[in-house]
Amino acid sequence: MVRNIGLILCILLVAYPLHAAQNDIDGLRIWPSPASTRVVLDLDAAPEFTYFTLSNPHRLVIDLSNTRRDTDLSVAQDMGELVKRVRYSTPKTNKDARIVVELSRKADPTLFAMTPTAPYGHRLVIDLLDSNPPAPAPIVIDQSSNNRDRDIIIAIDAGHGGEDPGSIGPSGSYEKHITLSIAKKLEAMINNERGMRAIMTRTADYYISPNRRPEIAREKKADLFISVHADAFTQPEPRGGSVWVLSMRRADTELGRWMEKTERHSELLGGAAEVISDKSSELYLAETILGLSMDHSMATSFDLSNEVISELKQITRMHKRTPQAASLAVLTSPDIPSILVEVGFISNPEEEKNLNWSKHRERLAQSIFTATKRYFKQVPPDGTLWASERATNRTHKVQSGESLSLLAQRYNVAVSRIKEANNLNSDVVRIGQVLTIPST
Ligand SMILES: [Zn+2]
Repeated sequence: MVRNIGLILCILLVAYPLHAAQNDIDGLRIWPSPASTRVVLDLDAAPEFTYFTLSNPHRLVIDLSNTRRDTDLSVAQDMGELVKRVRYSTPKTNKDARIVVELSRKADPTLFAMTPTAPYGHRLVIDLLDSNPPAPAPIVIDQSSNNRDRDIIIAIDAGHGGEDPGSIGPSGSYEKHITLSIAKKLEAMINNERGMRAIMTRTADYYISPNRRPEIAREKKADLFISVHADAFTQPEPRGGSVWVLSMRRADTELGRWMEKTERHSELLGGAAEVISDKSSELYLAETILGLSMDHSMATSFDLSNEVISELKQITRMHKRTPQAASLAVLTSPDIPSILVEVGFISNPEEEKNLNWSKHRERLAQSIFTATKRYFKQVPPDGTLWASERATNRTHKVQSGESLSLLAQRYNVAVSRIKEANNLNSDVVRIGQVLTIPST
């Protein structure tokens, strides 16, 4: 008998350390995004958990072993539509916590634990993939049916978001907020411009994986992908902006990776894939076309980067004065011209202050916009309104004694249209200057 009790005690002692420390729930955060919602439980230690789903009504039930359940689970922030409420329920044993996520419709859950990374500690992350996400606001991409040439589509990618704050400045500014603010200002400028339209990879504070971002641009048939970030370093001194493009080595790797994914060929080839019935020649053709498209998009990215740098350096110090080639996860599109703009160092106290200043963010957005507009006015993509305008436009070399109003009269077009077509900020023209004269 005595020996048996000793054995039991021994087993208890061995098992005890696993359950020694009670875990604590420190808080709950909910990040809604258009297609999914992320629920995050902040915890004192790594969670031990199991889960299952129930329907009628739809719920996700999570059991956390050895966890106290005294933290309030009500959330003040916007929870989105998918999650109705998060609450406690009666646990299996008194030491555990059972959490119920009430859902408004069916959702596919993925649960995983995350180890501490600043500014967060241990977390249980619950990604809920919406079975029936609300339809996005209708965007008409193909305007050919309206007999109007299409807009140039610029995909704007606000770096980081949601659970991923990006870099954090010395006084606590989050990169994700700064990038979204600049992205929104840029979006407004582009949408205000006839012949251009913006799409956003994220529109609020939620997480999107770096690989998903260029995919969104591709789905929306973007002509250009611009990712906005703020730089950071371990020391406070580095400062200034820089512009990054896909490195040739990464581009070759990506091209190889894409070639292996045969299901992507038809997507990348567009209509050309349908006329190729021979699968063996398709691979070769896809490689050739992709190679050409990659050369074009890399040349575009590089030229555009130079335009952006020439604008940016007028309003901010530059960390690098030439485009930088990088192997970055968001710059993985060999087919879409893509650039990444680091608008400054958030780790530099002075630049952090500037980045928190709305007027400065406005200027940053303006310089990216001006550069992009100027670039596409010169080389508009085929089929766009700007391409057809350029084809019908005349040019005029300014002679001595000629003014804008005189030219406007002679060509029967408004002064404002000439200024717009040539990106002029004033009425002053130089002798010898070659002006584009718009047709209307
Ligand atoms: Zn970043």
